[in-house]
Amino acid sequence: MSRPPRTLITGGAGFIGSHLCDRLLAEGHEVICMDNFITGSPDNIAHLIGHERFHFIHHDVTNFIYVEGPLDYVLHFASPASPADYLKYPIQTLKVGALGTHKALGLAKAKGARFLLASTSEVYGDPLVHPQPEDYWGNVNPVGLRGVYDEAKRFAEAMTMAYHRYHGVDVRIVRIFNSYGPRMRLDDGRALPTFMTQALKGEPITVYGDGSQTRSFQYIDDLVEGIYRLLMSDYVGPVNIGNPEEISILEFAKEIIELTGSKSEIVFKPLPADDPKVRQPDISLARRVLGWEPKVSRREGLRRTLEYFKQRLGLTGS
Ligand code: UDP
Repeated sequence: MSRPPRTLITGGAGFIGSHLCDRLLAEGHEVICMDNFITGSPDNIAHLIGHERFHFIHHDVTNFIYVEGPLDYVLHFASPASPADYLKYPIQTLKVGALGTHKALGLAKAKGARFLLASTSEVYGDPLVHPQPEDYWGNVNPVGLRGVYDEAKRFAEAMTMAYHRYHGVDVRIVRIFNSYGPRMRLDDGRALPTFMTQALKGEPITVYGDGSQTRSFQYIDDLVEGIYRLLMSDYVGPVNIGNPEEISILEFAKEIIELTGSKSEIVFKPLPADDPKVRQPDISLARRVLGWEPKVSRREGLRRTLEYFKQRLGLTGS
């Protein structure tokens, strides 16, 4: 190819989207980042402004998407993604998963581009199979508070496969499990940023329920590597990308207290409705078809993330 690959990333100013912008620029792509900043932030891409292969378009992808020139890849990462965010923006969440996915697929079809959908472990809901392999269909409450995200992503997967089967669009689907790292929003309400902020400020750590529910946290660099490998692979169909190292939320809170050397105590708050009791990826498929597995341990990932939180809270002293 005489020109670099051209790639659109919707939600490119979000936590994951902005790391993908970095990675694809490093791989030599021309990157068009699109965001409407309802949960993404200009801060996440400030360092890319002025890069000769980076462009930004302020746009809500639930409306017709216009991009001039050729496109080789469309990565659809636009969506509120933390429980607090999609409870605050339930209709935008449904619209970006449904209408936004439709627009992004339409664009990929028109340009002959490969399409990659950011899906989620939330398609498994409160899972009855543990750990969760890709062929588990999930246990989702469609009318619950989390249903707006879970069902939007389930619809998005169905739409993606329909475009593949009916229109022959080349598609990839990544099911992303809990992820963390620099550029997470401090106030997005998720366990990790909430606990870290509380620990660093010496405030009580709010564990929901009895804290026996489990999650499996992956560091952002591992996720980005998995997404990049999937994008470049020829595997059609959902692939779990997550770190199988599982921990209860109570243990996780203790780990963060220890890591930060905080004097915060743990307080228990009511468990939100439909909060999944367990979550752990089965990554056999990713190992087999992508040769991928996580490399960053929780201890190391948390240490790196702590630096970012200290900086954001003005605690570095530099
Ligand atoms: N959680 C908690 N305290 C908080 C925020 C979250 O105990 O201040 C719990 C939440 O109920 C869930 C787990 O931590 O069981 C992970 O929540 P998160 O919002 O990070 O993401 P989820 O995996 O639920 O989408």
